[in-house]
Amino acid sequence: MLQDLGRHVFKNEFSLRHEPRDEDFVLVFKEHEILIGGDGLHEPLFLPQVSNVTDKSLLYLFSIDSRGYYLYCGDSINIHIEGFSFQSHMVLRSDNPRIVCFAGFTAYHLFNFYQHNRFCGRCGSPTIHSQKERALLCTKCANIIYPRIAPAVIVGIVHEDKLLVTRYKDRPYRGLALIAGFCEIGETPEDTARRECMEEVGLRIKDLKYCGSQPWGLDSNVLMGFMASVDGEPVIRRDDGELAEAFWITRDEITQEDSPISLTKTMILNFKMQI
Ligand SMILES: [Zn+2]
Repeated sequence: MLQDLGRHVFKNEFSLRHEPRDEDFVLVFKEHEILIGGDGLHEPLFLPQVSNVTDKSLLYLFSIDSRGYYLYCGDSINIHIEGFSFQSHMVLRSDNPRIVCFAGFTAYHLFNFYQHNRFCGRCGSPTIHSQKERALLCTKCANIIYPRIAPAVIVGIVHEDKLLVTRYKDRPYRGLALIAGFCEIGETPEDTARRECMEEVGLRIKDLKYCGSQPWGLDSNVLMGFMASVDGEPVIRRDDGELAEAFWITRDEITQEDSPISLTKTMILNFKMQI
């Protein structure tokens, strides 16, 4: 999956000790776009480096191996770097190369946190960066704002030798999906799984088995995956406000794929391989 970096070491400890070096990387975002080189298809993606930017308004985010990754905090509207262009953040799903795409996902999560909390939600005053942890502090009322990570679940429902797959309505991702949804306040992830299955396809489920997790920075999520079986009749009553399609597929109908980036795809492939 996207977060599996092999021999590379991701270090996300908060630190003020890092000084940008020319060879470190810079993440520049503008709404849902990232300033990046390559296209992820014919040419691997690559990030600008500190030596490429003249405005050194940079915030340390994390390191991978010995290289630092910095968020560009200047005016991204007017930034131009030869050989780089703003592209939809969806290009990061290309997984080419893994390390750039994981860095992009993770930095985008942090970018949204910083961008959405420039002012205190309690009193409206400006916020500043904490000097001791990854947080923003209100300059007036002492409110501390930590990064928001939204828990969500993914559920693979199995009936006999078939898996229930879906396609979202009105979302950029057009591939096969599973039942998914955010945890609501006051419920466990297992409660969420049961509720979402009932809401999205009208199915009662049983025998929930946890099967893995994944940070998904594009949507500020941490995802938890469960497999489950149908409790009762396998009749789909699709929520057509949310889903364009919902149908059962057999193992043979699932296309083989190497090293999928998402927990969803991993769960679908694990079903195919009977893992
Ligand atoms: Zn405040």
